[in-house]
Amino acid sequence: MSKPEIVTRFAPSPTGFLHIGGARTALFNWLYARGRGGKMLLRIEDTDRARSTDEAIAAIVDGLKWLGLDWDGEAISQYARAERHREVVEDLLARGKAYRCYATPEELAEMREKARAEGRPPRYDGRWRDRDPSEAPQAVKPAIRLKAPTEGETAIDDHVQGRVVWQNKDLDDLILLRSDGNPTYMLAVVVDDHDMGVTHVIRGDDHLTNAARQAQIYQALGWAEPEMAHIPLIHGPDGAKLSKRHGALGVDAYRAMGYLPQAMRNYLVRLGWSHGDAEVMSSEQMLEWFDLDAIGKSAARFDFAKLENLNGIYMRQTPDADLYDALIENLDYLPDGPEFRSRLDAVKWDRIRQAMPGLKERAKNLIELLESTKFLVDDRPLSLDQKASKILDDNARKTLSEVLPVLEEAPQWDAASLEAAVKAFAETTDRKLGTIAQPLRAALTGRATSPGIFDVLVVLGREESLARIADQTA
Ligand code: GLU
Repeated sequence: MSKPEIVTRFAPSPTGFLHIGGARTALFNWLYARGRGGKMLLRIEDTDRARSTDEAIAAIVDGLKWLGLDWDGEAISQYARAERHREVVEDLLARGKAYRCYATPEELAEMREKARAEGRPPRYDGRWRDRDPSEAPQAVKPAIRLKAPTEGETAIDDHVQGRVVWQNKDLDDLILLRSDGNPTYMLAVVVDDHDMGVTHVIRGDDHLTNAARQAQIYQALGWAEPEMAHIPLIHGPDGAKLSKRHGALGVDAYRAMGYLPQAMRNYLVRLGWSHGDAEVMSSEQMLEWFDLDAIGKSAARFDFAKLENLNGIYMRQTPDADLYDALIENLDYLPDGPEFRSRLDAVKWDRIRQAMPGLKERAKNLIELLESTKFLVDDRPLSLDQKASKILDDNARKTLSEVLPVLEEAPQWDAASLEAAVKAFAETTDRKLGTIAQPLRAALTGRATSPGIFDVLVVLGREESLARIADQTA
């Protein structure tokens, strides 16, 4: 018999952006399923109506798409399945696996208070567990609780945490359906995972205790439990819980910082998982190598410098045409991106495309890349930055006046011909090439650094180059 298909799911609560931990969870689920020919599903856990928003759902979907993580079928709304959740509770009631609890809020508060006074964790005392329903007070709407085992233990065999055991006496009868008829999160997760055919639950280890509760619900329902993998959370570089300062930002913030999605993916996959000492890996390699058993047990540390470095590697190894596309696709997310776009026309886009080989060597991220293209887009006369102004002293401007006719007479406007012409000029006038190249660079780009100067001349074209130089001649 062939093995059953692997089905994973990513189950975000749409109460904020897709944060970095969520993105990693999604990536792990995606890699595990896709690397094994399985499915990854997306479930939006929107039962908290007060905090769930459409904007958050859109941000999550956007973030996943940007990272290149796709899912099978439509995203499923947990809230829309409330009827099914209630139906399952009815079944549990009918089979004596759940019961109605009429404890009032005052009684529950009293129980908590008593536990606190005795130094115990707050725990429902099971007062309606075996009570005759005929004793039910008319005025109180009951909650429905699971009739959880009171003896023995509940255990899960977790792919990351190993075997984790809870004593049943420490777990009270959890609520399945609130007195207002709304299913609890704990119940909804179990019913949804079961109905969606999820075989592997991969999520943050902040859900480990929930796993015990959920295991009890599975057992009461007589359903097979999925495999579990609880991933340690991401910490800051100092080992403390990840804060905004450390990088606990939405995926959109990383996009706005100019990181490439492939680099981000590569960075995320190494947060808590490794394969030998491989650092830079293609999607194919990640899919082939990723496995739950190689996820570390200790918290991963977020490291901006590493991300920046990895991104630089991806910038350089991405083919020119793809990098150009990445700039176009991400432009509106970058600071000043939309304004920049509004100043572009076909000629300027074409200059950027042509200049890409020289530009990409110098940029560690798309913001730097964008910054380095500005000279291609700015209109004459260029404004010079401080260093460029300094280069263009009287002497340099004189040099420009002399080299201008040399360029005008160049037989062809390509890098080799222009270089030959300028070199010959340097020799006959006994100048070092640098004393010509730097003023040219300052005049053509308004800066002191740029791609190779002959490439710049070609990319800007004859007319624009000559005009920019003429603007700066003495
Ligand atoms: N909705 C939960 C969260 O965003 C995830 C629950 C789960 O994966 O089981 O933390």
